[in-house]
Amino acid sequence: MDSARENAVLTMVPKGLFIGGEWRDSSSNTTFGVEDPATQQKLTEIADGTPVDAMAALDACERAQSDWAATPPRDRGEILRRTFELMNANADDLALLMTLEMGKPLAESKGEVTYAAEFLRWFAEEAVRIDGRWSVNPNGSGRLLTMKQPVGPCLLITPWNFPIAMGTRKIGPAIAAGCTMVVKPAQQTPLSMLMLAQLLHEAGLPDGVLNVVTSTKASAVTGPLFDDARLRKVSFTGSTPIGQKLMEQASKHLLRVSMELGGNAPYLVFGDADLEAAVDQALIAKMRNMGESCVAANRFHVHESVAEEFSSRLAERMGEMKVGRGTEDGVQVGPLIDDTQRGIVADLVEDAVGKGAKVLTGGERVGDRGYFYAPTVLSGIADDASLLREEIFGPVAPVKTFSSDDEAVAAANNSDYGLVAYVFTSDIKRAIRVTEGLEVGMVGLNRGLVSNPAAEFGGVKESGFGREGGREGIEEYLYTKYVAVDV
Ligand code: NAP
Repeated sequence: MDSARENAVLTMVPKGLFIGGEWRDSSSNTTFGVEDPATQQKLTEIADGTPVDAMAALDACERAQSDWAATPPRDRGEILRRTFELMNANADDLALLMTLEMGKPLAESKGEVTYAAEFLRWFAEEAVRIDGRWSVNPNGSGRLLTMKQPVGPCLLITPWNFPIAMGTRKIGPAIAAGCTMVVKPAQQTPLSMLMLAQLLHEAGLPDGVLNVVTSTKASAVTGPLFDDARLRKVSFTGSTPIGQKLMEQASKHLLRVSMELGGNAPYLVFGDADLEAAVDQALIAKMRNMGESCVAANRFHVHESVAEEFSSRLAERMGEMKVGRGTEDGVQVGPLIDDTQRGIVADLVEDAVGKGAKVLTGGERVGDRGYFYAPTVLSGIADDASLLREEIFGPVAPVKTFSSDDEAVAAANNSDYGLVAYVFTSDIKRAIRVTEGLEVGMVGLNRGLVSNPAAEFGGVKESGFGREGGREGIEEYLYTKYVAVDV
């Protein structure tokens, strides 16, 4: 990849805050640098928003809210549809930008742009299907009317691991429902969101409907919004501890809350599974996004009859993967987001090895520039190894054996999290039994990928609540009003 092309894409990105349909500097006139995790070089500087800017964004929401709620659903949908098309037309630039700021290989960034754009197409179609109910009062006197209305101004907070898709998954339904919003992207990957804001503007989104405040002071900037009764909803994707903190803040004005939090996905391989498919899909479930995904397979529970073969095949495939800067040809594994994240991964591996795990491949940092970590497979994991309980968020696959279905389900459920599980078996009865016993919001049955804009994404337990995508996704942005009608 030539650096002239990288510079050209970086030049295209607006560097300000997007408030009330205008790009502006931070009220403190300060900026912060965005880094390339593959080179540790600064890519560019963008506005560092303040609490004053956040309040200006909420003011803009308030000014736009009633007109936006009254805008015909078809018009709201058409704006989403046009943005979907613009995203696809600009997919190469968006993908390069994402790889530069986040590190994932270009092909994966391209995949994320497509996935992210699909949320806008899906919700363009949902905008015109918001309906209610009309019924006769059971005693015959009067009628019951229920209608759905937008909840009002929303705060949408997104993480760095999927810089655009975690945004469109919230922005799409909020726009479709007729809500206005303040978006606070992660400070490590704000550029993709700024480009998306520009495309939404270009597609005709009215001023003030979407406002983006980038900042290095997440808590200080979002805090005053929670204190202001005009804010009616918060939708958060990120870590469980921050989600818990935001829920406390949301209690002040009893906001509607959606929480897409951490995961610790078990990947169950039964003795009757198609082993080749289980290994192929494991590469997707584990290695997509370098393992920095809430739905990444965190622990592999494999029946003792096939564990050795599964582990050695997985180690062979992961050991062959090309590690490098995501812009380079053929690279399959980019850097982790920063040195802290890489340190967490390295410590978890060290802890497991210290407790007796065997390294089948990897187990070390790679290179002296950038936050690279080798794809790693571990076997012989002790019950008290920390990586069984904690989210690894890196390219590490620990394999543990089980001997019965009950043991597999109990091991899978032995977690505070409950986002997704993967089940590999060719026995339909076992598949149903095991799936019903899993304490998760989603299951990949003989599949290592569940994410789909047309399906309800979300978890249970400490993985949060609320659903994004599918039929339920728009409901998070609507409230029900019931009218008792005298006739
Ligand atoms: P994070 O530290 O919780 O940050 C997420 C977002 O919250 C960022 O925009 C961050 O801003 C902001 N934030 C941090 N502290 C805040 C505070 N006190 N008040 C308001 N906002 C605050 O999570 P992360 O490390 O970026 O993302 C990784 C986590 O996200 C993992 O646990 C992963 O499983 C989870 N995740 C879940 C899903 C899902 O759908 N369930 C999807 C993707 C990721 P700064 O960047 O400025 O810190």
